[in-house]
Amino acid sequence: MNRTALAADPIQVFQDRESGVRSYCRTYPAVLRSATGSTVTAQDGMEYLDFFAGAGALNYGHNHDHIKQQVLSYLAADGVVHALDFHTSAKSEFLDRFGREVLEPRGLRHRVQFCGSTGTDAVEAALKLARKHTGRSKVIAFSGSYHGVSRGSLAATSDLTLRKAAGVPLDEVTFLPFPVGPGGRFATVELLERFLSDEMSGVEAPAAVLLEAVQMEGGVYRFPHADLRRLRALCDTHGIVLIVDEIQAGCGRTGTFFAFEAAGIIPDLITVSKSISGLGLPMSILLIREGFDAWDAGDHPGTFRGNQLAFVAACAALDLWQTPAFTAAMRAGAELMCRFWTEHALPGVQVRCEGHAVGVDLSAVGGGILAGEVVRELFDRGLIVEATGRGNAVLKLMPALNTSLDALRRGCELVHDAIRSHLTIREEGE
Ligand code: PMP
Repeated sequence: MNRTALAADPIQVFQDRESGVRSYCRTYPAVLRSATGSTVTAQDGMEYLDFFAGAGALNYGHNHDHIKQQVLSYLAADGVVHALDFHTSAKSEFLDRFGREVLEPRGLRHRVQFCGSTGTDAVEAALKLARKHTGRSKVIAFSGSYHGVSRGSLAATSDLTLRKAAGVPLDEVTFLPFPVGPGGRFATVELLERFLSDEMSGVEAPAAVLLEAVQMEGGVYRFPHADLRRLRALCDTHGIVLIVDEIQAGCGRTGTFFAFEAAGIIPDLITVSKSISGLGLPMSILLIREGFDAWDAGDHPGTFRGNQLAFVAACAALDLWQTPAFTAAMRAGAELMCRFWTEHALPGVQVRCEGHAVGVDLSAVGGGILAGEVVRELFDRGLIVEATGRGNAVLKLMPALNTSLDALRRGCELVHDAIRSHLTIREEGE
């Protein structure tokens, strides 16, 4: 982790030339140069252990050799890179393998819609399709949710600061409390059942209910399985499209390929992005259940709906996903982290473990101010970790799924030590 002296201030060009909208780089003010696995190296030679994994886009780590080699070979053979939504051999292989290896074994008879390049594009498509399918316009989403920041998805994102930036009313989405959260337990599904079965409730059946099976930006909260099954039944009764957003919690992040699997339900629409390409290449898909593909040809066009390199990378990622060694490493890693936080409990600090997503909640012991201090100190010490949730009071540990056990232990120890030392400093100052 040696820093080498640099001639000029490497940050200056960003301050001078990049828009004020930039965000992560303000919290982590390094200029990144290269990365492999769970290690990111900055221009000044500083090495970071990555417990953020591109906000969930790097579940297989940085530049995994197998995925990278497949992409390099495809490029070297002049494989088509841009093809609108033409048929291509790369897309054909992805569709075939994703269908046989991911969907069919889970009983999912969904078709794939290729959306624009980023997660919000899949959410936009899902909302639009649900409205077309039902002929209704309202959507129900949940407090603590994050679904993107384009016009339609932002309407379903609960963060009031983000919503303010829209500059227009975002009133087509109604929020209900997520059944678990900082405020405790809510009987949200029961409430909705009562509303929809009462013709004088004033509440009409919406086009869709949109949720994350595990809220990630919301602070790592899982939708209770029994509630999700009950919600599935409610949607069936009232012809409501159930949309599950797997953009961050999916692709193995919580231990199963899809986070909703553990609840034993089948959503009508599923949004997938971030880690689907394995290498961090932009790719975004909507999975559409049989009977819900109400699109007419050309209803939802776009130039970048066929990132061929991402398709090649996604197939290589599927190779890894199905390797027993990968699965074993993933299970062992998740167990290690969960055990670590059970054995090293800190008074007042709540920890929620969902596979390789661990929420270390500092709400009761200093909240966002403490979490911010810890994030900054950890970055200085060579660990990238994000604070999220209400008031940014939850440290969200999100290492790649194949991070070595040593690195996972080291990262958890760094986080633990930083919290403990900041808590001690605070106690002494009181
Ligand atoms: N849904 C969820 C659950 C997300 O976590 C995100 C991104 N954090 C999005 C949608 C939006 O994805 P993108 O930033 O790629 O548009």
